[in-house]
Amino acid sequence: QDLVELGDSITRCRACPRLVAWREQAAREKRPAYRDEQYWARPVPGFGPDDASIAIVGLAPAAHGSNRTGRMFTGDRSGDFLFEALHAVGLASQAEATHLGDGLELYRTRMAAPVRCAPPENKPTPQERDNCRHWLAREFELLRPTLRAVVVLGAFGWQALLPVLAEAGWQAPRPRPRFGHGAEVVLPATDEGADLVLLGCFHPSPHNTQTRRLTQEMVREVLRRAISRA
Ligand code: SF4
Repeated sequence: QDLVELGDSITRCRACPRLVAWREQAAREKRPAYRDEQYWARPVPGFGPDDASIAIVGLAPAAHGSNRTGRMFTGDRSGDFLFEALHAVGLASQAEATHLGDGLELYRTRMAAPVRCAPPENKPTPQERDNCRHWLAREFELLRPTLRAVVVLGAFGWQALLPVLAEAGWQAPRPRPRFGHGAEVVLPATDEGADLVLLGCFHPSPHNTQTRRLTQEMVREVLRRAISRA
């Protein structure tokens, strides 16, 4: 199985009844600005090259963002902020991400999420997070030969990712490291593979960016660190 086949399998998943209902309800009701669009309304697969050395891990799709467009962080304000930073540091071909087929390419970077379906109020349940874990673990297993750094956007992603990485071949640190903006932890490989650097970054949600809890320069600084470790 490669990452394309994995992505195909992910998009067919219906393991969480509440999230299946929510992603489809959002597609029926739509936001007025998107009323002429056909929503994706399925799980969102990873995005980026299959030999990425950097991964960016968020939380879950937004109901009218990637649940609409079908691509990670594409079509919402969190993504607008993130892609501006990725482009500024040379990891994305353009600063805007609007829809599949907009020409955007990621360089050396793969985007993924611990939960692949849009949850109500952006809050998946622990059960939904656990249901989805195997998809991300498999994605990291497949990326493992080249992956060297992961930028984790927010505390939910940080907590969800640690057991995923343990499943995918890196040692879980003890005690469990705390999330913080700028946090940095090295996870040794369980075999002769390469270590993985985990970098914490506040989530680029409007709540954080509009209050300037998170600025462009703060995100770019974490991304530059990821580049230097990868
Ligand atoms: Fe499947 Fe994950 Fe979506 Fe649940 S959240 S239905 S496990 S893809």
